[in-house]
Amino acid sequence: MPKVALITGSTSGIGLGVAEHFAQNGYAIMFHGLEVNGAQIAAELGAKYQVATSFSNANLLKPEAIAELVNETVSQLGRLDVLINNAGIQYVAPLTDFPGSKYENIIAINMNASFYASKAAWPHMEKQGFGRIINIASVHGLRASAFKTAYVAAKHGVLGMTKVMALEGANKNINCNAICPGYVKTPLVEGQIADQAKSHGLSEDEVVTEVMLKKQAVKQFVPITAIADMALLLAKDGSETITGTTFTLDGGWTAQ
Ligand code: NAD
Repeated sequence: MPKVALITGSTSGIGLGVAEHFAQNGYAIMFHGLEVNGAQIAAELGAKYQVATSFSNANLLKPEAIAELVNETVSQLGRLDVLINNAGIQYVAPLTDFPGSKYENIIAINMNASFYASKAAWPHMEKQGFGRIINIASVHGLRASAFKTAYVAAKHGVLGMTKVMALEGANKNINCNAICPGYVKTPLVEGQIADQAKSHGLSEDEVVTEVMLKKQAVKQFVPITAIADMALLLAKDGSETITGTTFTLDGGWTAQ
């Protein structure tokens, strides 16, 4: 039976690229996200790579919907080997203008959803004697930038829970790791370019060169394929001693 991967937020951006890479490598995929064409993406990529796929638009703001997403994965695809907690949102504003509702939603989607999904996936992984949890965190799990209180807090939290889950999964063949990308050109970042232009009073081109890529030694957006390759490595059989750690794909940002 092929291995099964559930990738949250896989109908857009990084998640979509990672899901396609896993499908290409023979994994059955539970696609997930709020994009209206999610079912179509799942069907098309399933046909393209000849793997089973399914799709859910579970709202990650709701813990019970997250548990249902995990249960649906197992009931529709037969097991759950790899959970990639990827879905995330962003909001950029100075602290005093930061709406409480935006803060709460970022903490819920970017951090708490990883807890609820991992908690629901755990018994299945434990029963199988195999599990891989990969959290798509961010360089903002390790470093701060102004105007990103909620996002930076959530991503630091995700790195903390990654370490705890690694300890609890040790000797159960369940590993847990985080990937911390620098800037990747996805719809999430395209939105930030406009927002940051407003916050910093800069043009959109200046935001890319002078704000976003300023801290990366490599002045390029991080390719989604690099993140997908890293995730596939962490998911492999035999990767259980790689656990509790953080892989930065940040163009040298945190080397400084
Ligand atoms: P994206 O906006 O392209 O995709 C986000 C996905 O999350 C979408 O499928 C969306 O539907 C889903 N989602 C959002 N809110 C949801 C909710 N309430 N319920 C269910 N699904 C929801 O974003 P992306 O750039 O691909 O980001 C993916 C992950 O990578 C995020 O965790 C982000 O923080 C992280 N990341 C992105 C970058 C970057 O530069 N793009 C850098 C570092 C880390």
